[in-house]
Amino acid sequence: MDLVEESPYRFRIDRRDPMRVPGVVFAAEALLPEIGADGSLEQVAAVATLPGIVDASFVMPDVHLGYGFPIGGVAATDVAAGGVVSPGGVGFDISCGVRLLTADLDLAGLRPRLDAVMDGLAEATPRGAGRGAAWHLAGRSDVDGVLRDGSRYAVQRGFGVERDLARCEDQGALGDADPGAVSDRAIERGAKQVGSLGSGNHFLEVQAVTEVYDQRVAEVFGLRPGQVCVMIHCGSRGLGHQICADYVRRMERAMPRYDIQVPDRQLACAPVSSPEGQAYLGAMAAAANYARANRQLLTHVARLVFRRVTGAGLDVVYDVSHNQAKIETHGVDGERRSLCVHRKGATRALPPGHPDLPAELGEVGQPVLIPGSMGTASYVLTGVSGAPAFASTCHGAGRVRSRKQAVRAERGQDPREQLVAQNIAVRGASRRGLAEEMPTAYKDIDAVVEATEGAGLCRKVARLVPIGVVKG
Ligand code: 5GP
Ligand code: MN
Ligand code: MN
Repeated sequence: MDLVEESPYRFRIDRRDPMRVPGVVFAAEALLPEIGADGSLEQVAAVATLPGIVDASFVMPDVHLGYGFPIGGVAATDVAAGGVVSPGGVGFDISCGVRLLTADLDLAGLRPRLDAVMDGLAEATPRGAGRGAAWHLAGRSDVDGVLRDGSRYAVQRGFGVERDLARCEDQGALGDADPGAVSDRAIERGAKQVGSLGSGNHFLEVQAVTEVYDQRVAEVFGLRPGQVCVMIHCGSRGLGHQICADYVRRMERAMPRYDIQVPDRQLACAPVSSPEGQAYLGAMAAAANYARANRQLLTHVARLVFRRVTGAGLDVVYDVSHNQAKIETHGVDGERRSLCVHRKGATRALPPGHPDLPAELGEVGQPVLIPGSMGTASYVLTGVSGAPAFASTCHGAGRVRSRKQAVRAERGQDPREQLVAQNIAVRGASRRGLAEEMPTAYKDIDAVVEATEGAGLCRKVARLVPIGVVKG
């Protein structure tokens, strides 16, 4: 795929038929060889053909191959101009996202009790593909509560405090959820999984702040050097997965009715304003709320363990999803337009002064939570004014090796021993599961974050390193 360098951190894929807009790749020269290798740039061009797409088909420096849409992609469609919504533009793990908690504890204070904390977390955190969850929902009314009110419902039921919600995207629940648009099969798959990590890319990690780049913003976020944090990464489990599968199929059948052709069936879509589009958005919002309740429950679990073992409390810095479509208003060609913004493996990054931010964050912008890997750093960033790509940035380091390739690369070495040698405690996950998730499976998080900052998408606030990880 030919890339035209527009600036050191921005590369263009020129529009050619049937693309409606160009592609834009945010990256750095050094990251380009890895980015081009897996076919994800062909996916960027394919997304650019979608009806109603505006501005460009964007990808972040952590881009890699995904289902139809690349992971790391951002695509916005103009609702009034017949713009479409596509389940593949959100992904199978609807509202997968990250929550960061701060402990009123420094690393030096944690060290003597680290093993006890890790054992407690490992025991209390349901994980893996199988069953088990921290919350046993009491029938359909509890399920509906989770689907409609997400973290808010979990807090109402005693799994958190009101302040948590102020520090969640959408105050903990996305509006317009429609449990009636969720299939029985999806509910069946999800009902017994609220409060569980899921598979190996998901984790609950104890971290420490090693660097603060912006003192003022870090203070508002509640971060200081040496501080212990807990990062939670999980999503909507079997429920979101089933909803994605259900609606890909439904939209595939509906496309001829709207005279929509796509170059890849995985890009199946329907106009936002169509019955299929509306039903998907209602079901997607329900799954998003499920994912937020899931992170709220794992917060509750982490709090119980920290309180019991260390006496420390945990406060929410923020909770933000990186797999979601949202109807938002943005300026396009000097006009305010209602857009359906797909972020798939991309994080919303609201700038300072944005009306959707709680008052306490208004002056500094939204906390953006970027996991790196269990053996490297993770970052806290903030949104900036005048950014491209509809106030979005990366969502992680991004895979460079498939799971299979990652296992092959680790052959003959024990991943657990390697991590322990780096003074990182590990719980959960099989040897193979860990090998799939070793730092070598991912891009260089420092380079990815530097590229997003260089591209003017966000700004660095703090860097965190792993102390102990519970893997899904
Ligand atoms: P995804 O949502 O695409 O599965 O993962 C998001 C990002 O999380 C990945 O691109 C990777 O950089 C990061 N990641 C995966 N596993 C871990 C982990 O155990 N710890 C941390 N801190 N980050 C991880
Ligand atoms: Mn996920
Ligand atoms: Mn994720």
